[in-house]
Amino acid sequence: MATLVHRSALDEIRAKVESGERLDFEDGVTLMESDDLLQLGELADAARRLRGGGDEVFFVQNLYLNQTNVCRVKCKFCAFAVTQKQEGAYTYTADELVEDALRQRGLTGFTEIHMVGGESPHVDFGYYVEIVRKLHEAMPDVHLKCFTASEIHHMTKLSGLTHEDVLRELRAAGLGSLPGGGAEVFADRVRRLVAPGKEHPDYWFHTHRTAHGLGIPTHCTMLYGHVETYEERVDHLLRLRAQQDETGGFLAFIPLAFHPENTVFERRGWRHTAGSDDLKMIAVSRLLLDNVPNVKAYWIMMGMPLAAVALHFGANDVQGTVVREEIFHAAGARTETEQKVEELVRFVREAGRIPVQRDTLYNELRRWG
Ligand code: SF4
Repeated sequence: MATLVHRSALDEIRAKVESGERLDFEDGVTLMESDDLLQLGELADAARRLRGGGDEVFFVQNLYLNQTNVCRVKCKFCAFAVTQKQEGAYTYTADELVEDALRQRGLTGFTEIHMVGGESPHVDFGYYVEIVRKLHEAMPDVHLKCFTASEIHHMTKLSGLTHEDVLRELRAAGLGSLPGGGAEVFADRVRRLVAPGKEHPDYWFHTHRTAHGLGIPTHCTMLYGHVETYEERVDHLLRLRAQQDETGGFLAFIPLAFHPENTVFERRGWRHTAGSDDLKMIAVSRLLLDNVPNVKAYWIMMGMPLAAVALHFGANDVQGTVVREEIFHAAGARTETEQKVEELVRFVREAGRIPVQRDTLYNELRRWG
């Protein structure tokens, strides 16, 4: 009987998707609670195609930089941050970052730098402006996707400037877009449990809304798989959808699975999210976020085999070639951090889809027929 009721609820959601009707909170919870994974995936892929998606799967050639691992915030899920006095603490100068990036560029020809780091109290706002300016001057054709909303908020504290003024200065120095980190899960209850030192999520939205108003595109994320409920996941997605309705500046949504290694949660015996939960997150994100054009299967966290399945669960992007990634590897992600273009192309093709290399703004650079 329960199965029949459940099947009928999914059928109702399918009818809504096929008629272009927007899904609501209850629909989102029903989808999250469903254990009919194959139907979820098929429904999400249908929604993607009904909204104009094709067979293309996008990736970008990018370099990951972390300007510092010194951070004052102490999020409980973080295995990356250290204090200034701890062994292994680093804060790179602008010249060191430029030298490193130029060396990597000669090897891989990336088109994007994705740079985030800790919220160090030992630098000033001028440091951030300088690293953006020098990277931009050294590589004017490389798109700089830098700093989470939390880091932008941190810069307002360091400088006394408004979020808008901070973003204007960074853009003048060469900033192209913002990554989506710092969102975690927006619900106050979750925030208090896993990131009590982080600013209120209203600031995350304020930063992204301000960036969109200035014409700076951004990305959005959710770090799931720790203490949050299904209801809190759905609430998070619907808040993002409402923001996108308002400003339209999100390029992509990236669901990020929590990795417990080297965090307090490992000592409590917590495990990685199950692959089924990762696929469910991709599918439900695609179904609820009807106004965000791209959903990424972040292969560096999921691993390639699961990311290939995710391409049939609503994902249309696999992030990139990712030269170096430290934050999730500090928390135990075991995937290779440098994925060459040929491997990405092969993996997308083997999933029955068309690999397309893009730039950060989703302009097509190259396609493999
Ligand atoms: S997640 Fe970011 S803000 Fe939180 S402790 Fe780690 S580096 Fe700091």
